Amino acid sequence: MSSPTANNIAVLGLCSSTPLKSSCQLETYLCGRDYADVFQSKMSERIYADSGGSVTESKVVHNVPMCIQSYSWDCGLACSSMVLRYLGFDPHNVYTSDLDSLQCGESIWTIDLAVLMQKYDIRHKLCTITLGVDKTYSKEGFYKRRFISDEERVNKLFQDAFTLGIIIEKRSVTMEEIIEHIQLGNIAVFLVDWNYLECIWCDRHRCRTCKCFPCLSACCDGYQGHYVVVCGFDLKKRRLFYKNPAFDTELCCSRMDRFDIARKSHGTDEDVVFVYKDGKS
Ligand SMILES: [Zn+2]
Repeated sequence: MSSPTANNIAVLGLCSSTPLKSSCQLETYLCGRDYADVFQSKMSERIYADSGGSVTESKVVHNVPMCIQSYSWDCGLACSSMVLRYLGFDPHNVYTSDLDSLQCGESIWTIDLAVLMQKYDIRHKLCTITLGVDKTYSKEGFYKRRFISDEERVNKLFQDAFTLGIIIEKRSVTMEEIIEHIQLGNIAVFLVDWNYLECIWCDRHRCRTCKCFPCLSACCDGYQGHYVVVCGFDLKKRRLFYKNPAFDTELCCSRMDRFDIARKSHGTDEDVVFVYKDGKS
C-alpha cells in the first residue's frame, strides 16, 4: 500500500534510546558541527566503469551535520535535526514548537518523523512491513508502558496520513535500494534495535559483558529502539556509514549484513524514512 486508509492502520516502532549524556540540557545540543574537513578523505571515491565512461560511486559519505540527542528519548528529534540541517533548514524549532505540534510527549514514533518531514515540505517516503496495529508489542517491555496511549495517537496519524501528505509504503527494503538512495545524494532515518547495532569504530567502548554501551543496565532487556541517520556506504568493504545521535563521534560504521540484522530485528517493523535531497513533497 502506498498510503494507508482507515482500514489499514499501522504501528511503527517507537524509539527511546539509551541515555548517554548525564547532562540533559539543550545547551549540550551540538547540532551544526561541520565536519567536511574531517571526512574529506572519505568523500566520494569514484571508480570509472569500463563501458561508456559512466561513473559508479563505490564509496560515499554525505556531509550531514552532527546533532547529539540531549535526553534518553529524543534520538528521533536529533536525527530529524540532522536531516533538516543537511537539507538547509533551520532545526531550532524541532525541540520546541515542532515537538509541541506532534503532541507525542516523549514518545516519538517513526510516523512522527515523517510528519516532521512533511511539515517542512521535504520529500520523503516511509517504508514499514507492518500495516495494522501489532498488538504483540503491547507485551514488549520497550512498548508496554505507553502502548495504550500511543496506540490511539499513532493509529490516528495513519488514518490521516494520506490527507496529511505523508507517504507510506508497506514493504521491506533491500540493501541495494538503500545504496541507490544514498548514492543519489539522499539520506535515510532508520529505526534499529540498539542491541544489534554495531559500529566497528566505536564498539571497543561497549561493555564486554552485556554488549551495551555504558548506560543503564535496563537497556539490555529486550528490544531497544533507536534512530540513526544512514549517510554513506563503502561497496567494496560492504559497510554503511551512519550518524548515531547518542554519540559525539562524527560518524559510525557498520557492516551491511549486521546493519540489516539491527534494522530488521523484531520491534522495528523495518521502519525507515527515506529523505530526498531534491524537490519538495
Ligand atoms: Zn561509532
